[in-house]
Amino acid sequence: MSKTKHTKILIIGSGPAGYTAAIYAARANLKPVLVSGMQPGGQLTITTDVENYPGFADPIQGPWLMEQMKAQAEHVGTEIISDMIVEVDFESSPKKAVGNNGDIYTADTIVIATGAQARWLGLPSEEKFKGYGVSACATCDGFFYREKHVIVIGGGNSAVEEALFLTNFASKVTLIHRRDELRAERIMQDRLFKHDKVDVIWDSVLEEVLGNPPGGEGMPGVTAARIKNVKTDVVTELPVDGIFIAIGHDPATQIFKGHVEMDDEGYILGAPDSTKTSVPGVYAAGDVKDKVYRQAVTAAGMGCMAALEADKFIMQMEEDTQQAA
Ligand code: NDP
Repeated sequence: MSKTKHTKILIIGSGPAGYTAAIYAARANLKPVLVSGMQPGGQLTITTDVENYPGFADPIQGPWLMEQMKAQAEHVGTEIISDMIVEVDFESSPKKAVGNNGDIYTADTIVIATGAQARWLGLPSEEKFKGYGVSACATCDGFFYREKHVIVIGGGNSAVEEALFLTNFASKVTLIHRRDELRAERIMQDRLFKHDKVDVIWDSVLEEVLGNPPGGEGMPGVTAARIKNVKTDVVTELPVDGIFIAIGHDPATQIFKGHVEMDDEGYILGAPDSTKTSVPGVYAAGDVKDKVYRQAVTAAGMGCMAALEADKFIMQMEEDTQQAA
């Protein structure tokens, strides 16, 4: 039987933005409810060393940081529910969200903090070999490539970080980038270029994943990558055991389409210096609205802003109700 739960503030998402919104909302006595979604803890749970979250002089582990944020949110009074919101209605009063198993959450305010997820190239062969040699998460799957040759596609911080992480296991890591320079930070690039297990193939794209497909004869797995040089059009087959795609992320905003204003890429649009969305009482924080910084610390900052703005909204709403009575 589905249940209905009302809260002053419903937080959807459990990354740094969601947990920080929860901590501030709980401390403002709003008794927040946080629905944690499909990947509790968000993207930091699939990363390893975090060196840029302030307050920790030594590197910390991403999953540990998220456990701490969760524990902190709970200690100050957040109710954390393991559910996945599949539908929303922001026009009703109170606003409404529906969970995976039919539970209904009604709320005076909502903070959208559903983050972003890994982007794929969209090749049919990539789809076929997902989980059988093609991955978007080195931290999750790198362990399987001990003494193997793997390639990483991409030229941003994620690609470089994944490539460096994979050197812990693989015998050789080849980074393949579509241009002739990386967009990753200089310090990351230096580490990459200095590493003797790493080489880089420039101006090239992955055209096809080759191997034994699952369901076919023999052990399923990747055996080679067909790589095309975009400047010369020369195609080569590179023998590899694993392929890691690290080409960025897409905001997880599918269920909010048509409910709040978004840009063409699905990032939620809002007022400057604010987490307000196009709907009064609905706020967006973190990677769902930020395609520029996308850092744990900036997401946390926006989570804080969202809770403070929601608190103001609720106070105003309560004042209006009292005056009307
Ligand atoms: P980015 O958007 O920064 O980089 C994506 C990379 O993938 C780019 O090099 C891009 O190429 C390439 N790419 C995109 N689409 C394709 C495609 N279809 N085919 C081939 N290549 C493609 O994403 P990241 O995930 O690397 O980083 C996102 C944000 O997170 C950044 O702000 C980054 O700084 C941050 N980050 C920080 C980390 C840290 O500080 N430790 C770790 C990881 C991420 P092109 O360059 O040509 O556009």
